[in-house]
Amino acid sequence: MTEEVILSVRNLEKQYPITEGLLRREVGRVRAVDGVSFELHAGEAFGLVGESGCGKSTTALSLLRLEEPTAGEIRFHDEDVLDYSRSELREYRRRVQLVLQDPDSAFNPRLTVGEALEEPLRVHGMVDSTRRQRIVTDALERVGLDGDDRASYPHEFSGGQKQRIALARALVVNPDVILADEPVSALDGRTKADVLELLGDLQTEFDLTVLLISHDVDVVRRFCDRIGVMYLGKLVECGPTQSVLETPHHPYTRALLSSVPSLDAHTPATATGEQTLTDDLPDAADIPSGCRFHPRCRAIIPPEEWESSSETWRRLMELRLYLEDDWSDTEALARALADGGRDWQSGDGEFESRLRTAFALPETLPERVEDAVADAGAALARNDLAGAREQVRAVTATVCEQESPSLTDEYTSHTVACHRYDPEKPGEALDGTRTRQAKEERTDAN
Ligand code: SF4
Repeated sequence: MTEEVILSVRNLEKQYPITEGLLRREVGRVRAVDGVSFELHAGEAFGLVGESGCGKSTTALSLLRLEEPTAGEIRFHDEDVLDYSRSELREYRRRVQLVLQDPDSAFNPRLTVGEALEEPLRVHGMVDSTRRQRIVTDALERVGLDGDDRASYPHEFSGGQKQRIALARALVVNPDVILADEPVSALDGRTKADVLELLGDLQTEFDLTVLLISHDVDVVRRFCDRIGVMYLGKLVECGPTQSVLETPHHPYTRALLSSVPSLDAHTPATATGEQTLTDDLPDAADIPSGCRFHPRCRAIIPPEEWESSSETWRRLMELRLYLEDDWSDTEALARALADGGRDWQSGDGEFESRLRTAFALPETLPERVEDAVADAGAALARNDLAGAREQVRAVTATVCEQESPSLTDEYTSHTVACHRYDPEKPGEALDGTRTRQAKEERTDAN
């Protein structure tokens, strides 16, 4: 890897309108990629990792303008990619090749492997068929196949062999950069390792720069020099692979790592107290305010005046999120709270008592919280779901839902977007005691 920047991405955005009705009136936007910035250095492998649906693949497609970015800047060797003419864009797409997860979708089943691999050469103006065939044969041999395979059809090959053919097809046009989108996720363990090894060999042999997209932390761990962790369209942590994976600072990165099956079967993530990702990624059409991870984050920062334990704070937040679920009415909520428990008692305090039990709230809460839980219970008894939500929301206002954290010092080596994170004291990030207020006090004191 060198310092030379091949591809630079600044504040990249890709939004899709949500329309309704015959007139296709726009009623919202899916912000699939929302202000992503990173650089690819010559010869490096940079990994984008995150759950399915977090915007990784849309980022890759936007880099090639196969999806036209809504905003932002993409520079290739310092040229403005969004300003390219048609012919410049064609040349750019030769130099930046995309390899997809499912090679079947990339091949025309009616073309032989040879024809499929010659096609990009023809598109880029190589008219000499003997030369095309020689290049194709050479590419097939370099990915571990046989030149004679040119005459076969894609369906005659296994999944791993098809991915090798896809790599050969990317190589025939002599690219600078490979964008590999989940290139091994459809393959079994041994084949996955073989194809990753091949990709690494090709990277060295052809001096390639690779952007590897994967939901599998283990794949990026094995292959990448640096990684960026994406969550709901944003980068939340970025840095050298070893640093990010061995000392992850963002609660989402930690949860993602804890959700990977441990090699040590005796220490599951739950035993270490780390958060795991058991629920689904929120809808990208309805993105949470502030830090997008806040509805799932167990490290969410309490209000500055919070006077109880962090465990009680987490339970109260869970109660709040539960109330904010998609309940049709309070009856549905009552049925869920009563499910499997004692009979529902008539009386004003029943909702409050059920909520306290369901979320294991301690008998004594800070006075404001005590009042809010009681008032929420009373509101539910009056069928006022909105009122109940408002009561709990008023005592759980947190900076995490009010302000969107930015990546710290974007161009230093390990950057994090979390209000808890202090680059000067990274070890304190998740100890559950440091609040933003404390950070500000320390800053003032300095
Ligand atoms: S900003 Fe708050 S909610 Fe977001 S990851 Fe950090 S602690 Fe969690």
